[in-house]
Amino acid sequence: MNVAIDGPAGAGKSTIAKLCAKKMNLIYVDTGAMYRAVALYLLESGVNVENSQIVAEKCKGAMVDIRYVDGVQNVFLGDENVTGRLREEAVGNAASVTSSVPDVRAHLFSLQRGLAERGGIIMDGRDIGTVVMPDADVKIFLTASSEVRARRRVKELEEKGEHPDFDTVKKEIEERDHRDMTREISPLKQAEDAILVDTSDMTIDQVVDKICSICGEK
Ligand code: C5P
Repeated sequence: MNVAIDGPAGAGKSTIAKLCAKKMNLIYVDTGAMYRAVALYLLESGVNVENSQIVAEKCKGAMVDIRYVDGVQNVFLGDENVTGRLREEAVGNAASVTSSVPDVRAHLFSLQRGLAERGGIIMDGRDIGTVVMPDADVKIFLTASSEVRARRRVKELEEKGEHPDFDTVKKEIEERDHRDMTREISPLKQAEDAILVDTSDMTIDQVVDKICSICGEK
């Protein structure tokens, strides 16, 4: 069985997908981490990420690879394990800009398709049900209000010892949603055959149970 989970930033996709993977014995594939790795590579190469022509040229140098260490996805750039450096806000924001460049998406597509073809995958992102795994057995569109998503993100950052401003975090989330939903190539949208799950008023356990039960019915 292959499961596709799409949705906006902060909807809880990776938390939920990881738990569902464990429960259903599937391999979790986080495609956002791949876009983040390309963005990290470009930032470290001194590329202006707003310049799509240079991004298109330079992204091909990002040797992104996925390896599983104790069942957990690790992302490599060449021989370097960059997993621990991908979650920074600057990297996420840069990824949301560079992911709209067709060459960046083409560069990662074969890696994602190759993983999907192995089967037994739960993959999350923005275009998984629509473009990467249009043939997925189950498609979920996971969402929550921007208010709730910003609150969750602030909590996550506070747990890391940071002191984020709620309004700034909310504004960044909304900007990222706008970029992801309005780009020309592979925009974030619910696949016609995806099931909408709004997590605004749900606990993590409730969401995991709901998705596992949807998968169980297949
Ligand atoms: O999900 P995450 O926040 O890690 O993704 C980072 C960025 O990568 C997103 O804002 C989005 O622009 C991009 N992305 C994408 N397609 C995917 C996964 C992520 O465009 N399948």
